[in-house]
Amino acid sequence: MPCDVRNILDIGCGDGTITNRLATRFQVIGLDSSREAIRHFLGEKLLASSGSVPLKDQSIDLVLLSNVLEHLPAAVFSHTVREAIRIARRYLLVVSPQNENLQFSQVKCDDCGCIYHRNYHLRSLTLTDIDRIFGQDFEMAAYTFWGEPWPQYDHRLWELKQYLADGWSRWPLAVCPLCGGKPGAKEPNAKLEKVAMLLDDLNDEVLFDRRESLVRQTRTFRSHFLPR
Ligand SMILES: [Zn+2]
Repeated sequence: MPCDVRNILDIGCGDGTITNRLATRFQVIGLDSSREAIRHFLGEKLLASSGSVPLKDQSIDLVLLSNVLEHLPAAVFSHTVREAIRIARRYLLVVSPQNENLQFSQVKCDDCGCIYHRNYHLRSLTLTDIDRIFGQDFEMAAYTFWGEPWPQYDHRLWELKQYLADGWSRWPLAVCPLCGGKPGAKEPNAKLEKVAMLLDDLNDEVLFDRRESLVRQTRTFRSHFLPR
């Protein structure tokens, strides 16, 4: 964190996992639209939409958007960007998955058939996207990538794997946004496992050159912005 930061606004602070730790060193305001989530944040809190923040222009040294932008529907997205730019006096700090393949995390609800991202991500962003989104008002001063690379998988084969081999994510913490259903335990099925394995082989050996799959594309980025 830059040394001239005294106060921070954490937009989309959720249950305060990060915000509570920041609050031990900085004056922090946590903002979230979920009453249930934000009650776990112990510091100063704002129950509000990220697209309409009740704070004055340039009133906060650093505005943090940590794993927020990828969750926002189009209607809220542009307002949130505008609010972050409006309120930040010195810095914006953005954390997001880098170029995520949303297909890999799709869950199909056992109960109602709804297909959803297990973490409810609605969009995939790259560092270039972020630079473009904030670039008119803030200049990217630094960025960091970290995490394992995403698997390289042809999207048509992945779709075949989902539909033919039941290759949906079965993340145990997933909750269906339509009916609240949770993935049950997956019954082993030798035939489906064989189909999945063949599709993996086809992807690795036929469609993707192995050398290409060694190109590392890290999963997450963090970028600092300074006002222009
Ligand atoms: Zn459902």
